Amino acid sequence: MTKNISQKKPLLFVVQQHHATHMHWDFRLEMDDVLVSWAIPKGPSTDPQTKRLSFRVEDHVYGYKDFEGIIPGNDYGSGKVIIWDRGEYLPLGRYSQQNLHQTWLDSGKLEFELKGQKLKGGWNLIRTSKRLYGEDTWLLIKKKDQYASTGEIVHDLPNSVVSGKTIAEITARDGVFRLGDYK
Ligand code: MN
Repeated sequence: MTKNISQKKPLLFVVQQHHATHMHWDFRLEMDDVLVSWAIPKGPSTDPQTKRLSFRVEDHVYGYKDFEGIIPGNDYGSGKVIIWDRGEYLPLGRYSQQNLHQTWLDSGKLEFELKGQKLKGGWNLIRTSKRLYGEDTWLLIKKKDQYASTGEIVHDLPNSVVSGKTIAEITARDGVFRLGDYK
């Protein structure tokens, strides 16, 4: 048995359901102190047969992992947000934790383990060669393991892992996003 003596701090992932112009789930992986982010129109699927189209979107500041509430305004990003899942993740394969962007993300083939309350086990996030709708397009795919299952987890388990609320139950009292509040 080899002993893991690394001092790596755990990395965080968060999935925020976001009812903007269109409902989607924002999948975010901590890398180099920011949250690298993908918008997934149908949300993650725990069925390895189901590849979920994921659009890379702008990185978010690390503190945004705690945001749940309403994003005010009338632009495409406005609307309600819940923390649908959150936990640690472990990148797999070769990488440097000090520079995940260059040593891991840029490969376009991300293999990782999720330790969330809902999403668990092995996953792949693979950049496609196509740019659908002019976007940086990836596919999120569950690996076959004991955490794989059929069904639609985003609908079967709709509640926030923080407040217990569904996205429909969110009001301004849960929080109002202001630029600069999250770092
Ligand atoms: Mn979003």
